[in-house]
Amino acid sequence: MRLSEVIAVLEEFYPPAWAEAWDAVGLVCGDPEQEVGRVLFAVDPVAAVVDEALEWGADLVVTHHPLLLRGVTSVAATTPKGRLIHRMITSGVALYTTHTNADVADPGVSDALARAVGLTGPLRPMVPADGPAGSGAAGEGGRGLGRVGELAEPVTLAEFTARAAAGLPATAWGVRAAGDPGRTIRTVAVCGGAGDSLLDTARAAGVDVYLTADLRHHPASEFAEHDGPALVDAAHWATEWPWLADVERRLARTLDVKTRVSTLVTDAWSLHYEGAK
Ligand SMILES: [Zn+2]
Repeated sequence: MRLSEVIAVLEEFYPPAWAEAWDAVGLVCGDPEQEVGRVLFAVDPVAAVVDEALEWGADLVVTHHPLLLRGVTSVAATTPKGRLIHRMITSGVALYTTHTNADVADPGVSDALARAVGLTGPLRPMVPADGPAGSGAAGEGGRGLGRVGELAEPVTLAEFTARAAAGLPATAWGVRAAGDPGRTIRTVAVCGGAGDSLLDTARAAGVDVYLTADLRHHPASEFAEHDGPALVDAAHWATEWPWLADVERRLARTLDVKTRVSTLVTDAWSLHYEGAK
């Protein structure tokens, strides 16, 4: 199978045109003519993931996060990113990124997150994408950012938080909540990755809880003061990781390639202690 054929399928799922203007998606390194037999999926293009790719014999690594988001004038092996590019090129491993175009896809990153934290019913985007005509053939509730859905049965915030933690991969960060632990949770909004730009959207949607990542103190504190939805904050990597199994399944169903989802925890934080006082 040529790399160009694999890319054609990925771009059918996640058209690059759906990416934000500031984003950098697509082929980072690799020759469209090269052969691909093994595809590794990971959230982050970091050295440990490249180690795994080389050990397993991957020909292509598909990551959610871009390696080169901003302009560079050198990929010399004197920086972590340059070294990574060198290792991949000299080993014949291609790198492909699908980022904000996978966030807004249907199904996309937040659909997988919603399923992982226990939403079983229909889902709809928090912010519908411009002009999508309902759900696509493979889709759930339409394209757009974030997802809103209902739990099969209401639970307390404490229980929802525990279930979310149980449904996501373990990280040092864990899963934290802001709000009354006994509060009833029925309607849930989720956004994989850094979702603080959707705090107002979550409040306006009238949900019982909003689960996302990368929440800073002031926005979270001000949000909690509104007596609106509770907040649940998970590790950035953990909120996007469930999507990897989704893209893996879709690719493996379409093409005759061996696939694997990396289980390496590449969240930036690796230690966690609670204060003593
Ligand atoms: Zn992310």
